[in-house]
Amino acid sequence: MSTFVSLLSREQLERLPERAREVVEYRKSDLSLNHIQGCPLGCAYCIRHTYGLWDQHQPRALMSDADAVEQLIRHRYFQPHVTPLQIFNRATDPFLPAVRPHTVAVLQDLDRRRLRNHVLVITRHQMKLGDRDWLNQLTHLKITLLFTYSGIDNKQIEPYPSHVAAESLSR
Ligand code: SF4
Repeated sequence: MSTFVSLLSREQLERLPERAREVVEYRKSDLSLNHIQGCPLGCAYCIRHTYGLWDQHQPRALMSDADAVEQLIRHRYFQPHVTPLQIFNRATDPFLPAVRPHTVAVLQDLDRRRLRNHVLVITRHQMKLGDRDWLNQLTHLKITLLFTYSGIDNKQIEPYPSHVAAESLSR
């Protein structure tokens, strides 16, 4: 078992706020997978402050990607080919350099299982030209990519520039 970001110890896991330990979240409209938590981009409105992870700027893993996918597909509300999914949408960005390999691993794992669920991937970070290659090789999942562009130029609200998302979208 390996992770590209550091893996939390059992003791560190037990110290997390209760909601942060919820790796698969039922959100009425979908199931959301969040076993990587932490983001350096510093948006003032980041939802992770609502469950005690505001100061977590470095992404960390609560478990391996394989274990997280198992939790997801064993969730009582998961239906193969039907349940909409989201990945890394509440505590990190799926295209951060350290998080990207986990995004790839999770999506490839689901795709190898020939699952046709819809998966929403939302990023404000940089999508590289090479990302198109592995994304295009996913033949079963239905992926939607959304790029967060606010145009806010107040660094106290959004330190990370919006033009990155615009450039990603152009790719
Ligand atoms: S990019 Fe997303 S996870 Fe990162 S700080 Fe902004 S809102 Fe939070």
